[in-house]
Amino acid sequence: QTLTPALNLSTSDALFTRAKNHIPGGVNSPVRAFRAVGGHPVFMQSAQGAWLTDVDGNRYLDFINSWGPMILGHAPQIVLDAVQGAIGNSLSFGAPTRREVEMAELIKQMVPSIEKVRLVNSGTEATMSAIRVARGYTGRTKILKFEGCYHGHGDSFLIAAGSGALTLGTPDSPGVTPGVAQDTLTVPYNDLAAVEQAIAANDGQIAALILEPVVGNMGLVVPAEGYLQGLRELCTQHGIVLIFDEVMTGFRLARGGAQELYGITPDMTTLGKIIGGGMPVGAYGGRQDIMDQVAPAGKVYQAGTLSGNPIATAAGIAQLTYLQQHPELYDELNRITTRLADGTRQICAELGLNYTVNQVGSMFSVFFTDKPVVNLEDAKTSDTEAFGRYFQGMLHRGIYLAPAQYEALFVSTAITDELVDHYLTACREAMREAHSL
Ligand code: PMP
Repeated sequence: QTLTPALNLSTSDALFTRAKNHIPGGVNSPVRAFRAVGGHPVFMQSAQGAWLTDVDGNRYLDFINSWGPMILGHAPQIVLDAVQGAIGNSLSFGAPTRREVEMAELIKQMVPSIEKVRLVNSGTEATMSAIRVARGYTGRTKILKFEGCYHGHGDSFLIAAGSGALTLGTPDSPGVTPGVAQDTLTVPYNDLAAVEQAIAANDGQIAALILEPVVGNMGLVVPAEGYLQGLRELCTQHGIVLIFDEVMTGFRLARGGAQELYGITPDMTTLGKIIGGGMPVGAYGGRQDIMDQVAPAGKVYQAGTLSGNPIATAAGIAQLTYLQQHPELYDELNRITTRLADGTRQICAELGLNYTVNQVGSMFSVFFTDKPVVNLEDAKTSDTEAFGRYFQGMLHRGIYLAPAQYEALFVSTAITDELVDHYLTACREAMREAHSL
């Protein structure tokens, strides 16, 4: 049996001790605290390409990539150059700029279902704004979401929420009023009949149906064949605004996101992270008649001092333009990620574990269960304790995974075949160690 290599995390540990005195739980976003996997979080110092370096000088191969946006790996020169070029002209104006127009044009070209788009500062703002607009447009109050999908921390979405809320056991957060909670309906993912029933039981009251077209926030869950099409038809039939939350999948699963990959046209789309190349950005957009409800064109209010920030748009335009001009990189990302997913599946099978590995394009998840995972209930059959041991084993071997079972892994173009081999070697050792095999 291979023993976990030692890792000096003394500077990280000291910073975490200080952080806990000043920041709730010592972190600015819950999943970073490593609660689900034991141990203390690693504090990062710098990153280049596929590699992260922590404050103690340890290096890790990165499979989080800032939870998605670093699709070209860390610190790509084209993005750094764009940001450096922009900085000299002030960091913010709170007034319109040329790059906001260019960014909107670029987003529309890549995601044709978007006829008008509004920039915001995070995915949370994008989804909160999108449902307000859908409510304003339809004059209805309720929204329908899916168990285990995460749409940021807006009150309406913290009902059966995925990601960190699920990991920490607070899928329904205290602080959300009963009034808000009662306007959010939830049903299991990949179950069209459940959606039909919910619509029938709330006839004419549902403003929007929001989902992650490929779910990343209960681990990676793939839409069943015909599922997205079925949702599209139900929404059209019942006058419900169909919102694809592509904060993770947009510009990642294909240039035009999951909607391009599956050939479905939503009414609205929410975007985040990736359009800022790592800077804080989000966006929501969709059909012109719906988006023209937004102030000052219409009466649905939504605003932001830093929205369309000149540095964020500089970074975003650089990264999106690169993606637009290099369609071949999606095939390569797919090939590399398929090697990672297939290799992991094979290692598990060889060890008699038969774990479920889900993959779409450059996102994948290893579920510590032998059950196929198509919804939250399946995902929850995972052995999260064994996952925690595996996570630590990988970390100590220089592989940085998402620190929770209910998250997806994100692959960047910086992962080469050689690095896949490196990952697979570590995976075999860490899997054995986590299960005492
Ligand atoms: N929607 C989805 C699908 C997400 O994955 C996330 C965050 N991971 C959000 C919304 C919220 O985005 P942010 O964290 O930028 O507020």
